Amino acid sequence: MIETRESGTAAMELGGTQPMTLPESAGELAEAVVDHAALAANVRTLRSAAGTQLMAVVKADAFGHGAAPVARTCLAAGATWLGVTRVSEALELRRSGVGAPILAWLFDPARSAEAVAAGVDLSVSSPADLAAVARVSGAPRIHLKLDTGLHRSGCPGEDWSRLVSVAASLESAGRVRVAGIWSHLSHGGRPDAVPTHRQLLMFRVGLDLARAAGLRPEVVHLANTAAVQANARDTAYDLVRVGAGVYGIGEGLRPALTLRTRVVQVRRVAAGRGVGYDHVGRTTRDTHLALVPVGYADGLPRAATGRASIWVGGRRAPLIGRVCMDQVVADLGPEPVAVGTEVVVLGPGDHGEPTARDWAAWSGTNEHEIYTGIGSRVGRRHVGADWAVDRSSNGREQS
Ligand SMILES: *Cc1c(COP(=O)(O)O)cnc(C)c1O
Repeated sequence: MIETRESGTAAMELGGTQPMTLPESAGELAEAVVDHAALAANVRTLRSAAGTQLMAVVKADAFGHGAAPVARTCLAAGATWLGVTRVSEALELRRSGVGAPILAWLFDPARSAEAVAAGVDLSVSSPADLAAVARVSGAPRIHLKLDTGLHRSGCPGEDWSRLVSVAASLESAGRVRVAGIWSHLSHGGRPDAVPTHRQLLMFRVGLDLARAAGLRPEVVHLANTAAVQANARDTAYDLVRVGAGVYGIGEGLRPALTLRTRVVQVRRVAAGRGVGYDHVGRTTRDTHLALVPVGYADGLPRAATGRASIWVGGRRAPLIGRVCMDQVVADLGPEPVAVGTEVVVLGPGDHGEPTARDWAAWSGTNEHEIYTGIGSRVGRRHVGADWAVDRSSNGREQS
């Protein structure tokens, strides 16, 4: 390892450097341990709070937790649907043997044939998209999406009548099956907010128009995690689409992911020395610095520089200097730790380790971005999954 040192401290630093020991797991320097008992408990909690069917949203590799194993656990815990953004994500789930209904909502409608062949339901927001999807043989299953005020995707109100009437005639002709009608909330956690009232009102009108056109969807769905947690019962309909809550984002839920690594070097550094690029950090006392082999490429936000701390061998230690691409330095103080000491970068918080919420606060983002930012070179290790014992329980092949 090549390092630049302040000349006066070189001898002292060399004296404090110990050989590196790798963690036992598959040559990885860092791993994300995903607790499937926590995922399952969150699904059960949210489903009973909603009192409806639950769609586990496993987009973006299940918020960085690993889509296929997470999907499996959610289905075993009572989820009956899976939600993803892209068709590629849905196909990956099918390839892993998931047979449950899957809805994908952001894809190129001209390229929906593969999704239809795999039995993936597709969201449709416009007559043009509907025409493209209906060109695929096999009566694609679609969910018509109404924009009730999020103004992100979905069919604008003024085009809805036309969309539902075209969909109804295509359905009569056996060209599509309208399996769902849906929308998405802008203020899910605030059932009494004016935008929520507006969205609900518009959704009800949209449903009336769809029924008047002759549509009889299997599932109507609107709520997300925040709406379920806010007990917004009139948003629940047949199905709630829960992402964040599955992973423990939200009150009364359990974070499922622990990002852990090990100290790879420890050195003594005198007071008043700059640490890292541009010497953004500076030691305030004679101290021990631990080199920890994860950085922003692994998901630690660079914006947390100067604020973050990590859990090193049972205690919190502040980071010193910039969060780098591949590594950070923790300021241990007078008491060193051994090379190989366990580091928890984030976890549920039970032992005083930082949480995803802490990292979000340190870097001005949300927990979602912390989880989805965990890099692909961090190995995922899945623990506590029922299906690891009984692989047959939930591995139904797609028909
Ligand atoms: C991500 C997403 C969800 C899940 O929302 P959470 O707040 O994570 O529960 C539901 N619906 C759509 C359309 C989404 O994009």
